[in-house]
Amino acid sequence: MSREQQAVARARKAFETGRSKCLEHRIRQLKNLQRLFIEKQSVISDAVKKDLNKSEVGTQLYETLGLEGEISLAIKKLKEWAAPRPVEKNLMTISDTVYIKPEPLGVVLIIGAWNYPWAVTIQPLIGAIAAGNAAVVKPSEVCVHTSKVMEDLLPLYIDKELYPVVTGGVSETQELLRQRFDHIFYTGNSMVGKLIMEAAAKHLTPVTLELGGKSPCYIDKDCDISIACRRIAWGKYTNCGQTCIAPDYILCEPSVLDRVIEEVKKSIKEFYTDNPKTCPDYGRIINQRHFKRIMNMLEDSAIAAGGDNDESDCYIAPTVLRDVKPEAKVMQEEIFGPLLPILPVNGLGEAIKFINKGEKPLALYVFSSDDKVIKRMTDETSSGGLLANDCLVHYSVSSLPFGGVGNSGMGCYHGKFSFDQLSHLRGCLIKQLKMEGVNSMRYPPHTLKKLGWARFFILNNVDMGWIGRMTLLAVLAVVAAVVLQYLL
Ligand code: NAD
Repeated sequence: MSREQQAVARARKAFETGRSKCLEHRIRQLKNLQRLFIEKQSVISDAVKKDLNKSEVGTQLYETLGLEGEISLAIKKLKEWAAPRPVEKNLMTISDTVYIKPEPLGVVLIIGAWNYPWAVTIQPLIGAIAAGNAAVVKPSEVCVHTSKVMEDLLPLYIDKELYPVVTGGVSETQELLRQRFDHIFYTGNSMVGKLIMEAAAKHLTPVTLELGGKSPCYIDKDCDISIACRRIAWGKYTNCGQTCIAPDYILCEPSVLDRVIEEVKKSIKEFYTDNPKTCPDYGRIINQRHFKRIMNMLEDSAIAAGGDNDESDCYIAPTVLRDVKPEAKVMQEEIFGPLLPILPVNGLGEAIKFINKGEKPLALYVFSSDDKVIKRMTDETSSGGLLANDCLVHYSVSSLPFGGVGNSGMGCYHGKFSFDQLSHLRGCLIKQLKMEGVNSMRYPPHTLKKLGWARFFILNNVDMGWIGRMTLLAVLAVVAAVVLQYLL
């Protein structure tokens, strides 16, 4: 048995004991996870610093703070999320108990990416624990130090049988994918996303795919360009552009293009000084392979700002590209680096057409002080999420579903959405072995008269307060049973 097979088998066996289902157990595990982030903050930050040159404050701000918030929310709301959810009934089922019961799926495989290694790996784990599952956690091998710290720390805090960490690269992930899971939660690029789905299909395993793509950013000429550009520069250059929802490129009218460049440059200086290379808040490209990939994209576009680089240090300065053509290399794939191409368009209509020609993005940004512009962009495009007049912050709102659509992914999570995504929402109907008269309309011999009654009983929904519903229900059920007994 391989190491991967053993981990999955152990997790399955632990799940079968039933302990992950117990609400107290789930809450205890979540509290332990919470403790990990309080007690081991510096170990976590040191590893992320080595992997991505993120500062300790940056790691807390962009990774662990959000996780702590999600854990607290899950602990606070778990009872409510896990409780049976009564649903509307029709007259036919008015005297029955009809509800949705969220139940655990079983063993979940979580495959994380490297760019926010804690956030994208542990956030699904919070959902998996809250929903009562076992979970095999596979952090990205690209973050060498973080994946080791995760492997060392998680078993010290949470149930290591139920939530094992398996480290390794492509071959280990492929070995995991040959095993049978009850759900696979993958974060990473769309190409590998297709491989994950293919492997999952063999066992009919459902998947959540948190992918990426080119997230467009439209700047309306009548907005406050200075504020817009500061927010865009922040969204783009945070983590050196290696953010799945970073604004990938800007669309704006030629009349404001120079202004946009100047304002982005101003913000770069404000955030990262004249020399971003020595600024503690400016990151590095994860490795030389990605460094080369990003530098290649620069070839056929004009640099308006930045462009300095140092391969030995995986450093690429915050860079702005002007008058970029749609055919340019930088426009052919997700950039995932600190290059910001600006493409001139003649107004909102042309921007919408341009966006709709591409794959559906993970995020779409529109900057305008005109509600009509925002509404048109919202109504006439599609994307995983939409944000007006800011970047990235929708990620931090637990009450919004986070996820892609089309090429940017499927399924969603955060807050209660994580819980629902990793639960089976079981439809339950509990009837009494009484009042058989009500049922006679569905038993043969079928007649038009019975059909008429069935139409009345099935097509009328009941939506009133709980007490009113119960009273009406009791009265109607008795009347119906009596009447139907004689009529049919
Ligand atoms: P990566 O290289 O770390 O790969 C992700 C995971 O896939 C790793 O755990 C790796 O082991 C596994 N993997 C890689 N190749 C594989 C293969 N051939 N078969 C099986 N498993 C394989 O990360 P990445 O893909 O470079 O991540 C960057 C991408 O992720 C970007 O496109 C980004 O937009 C996207 N992303 C999306 C989100 C989101 O929430 N939607 C978050 C972060 C990153």
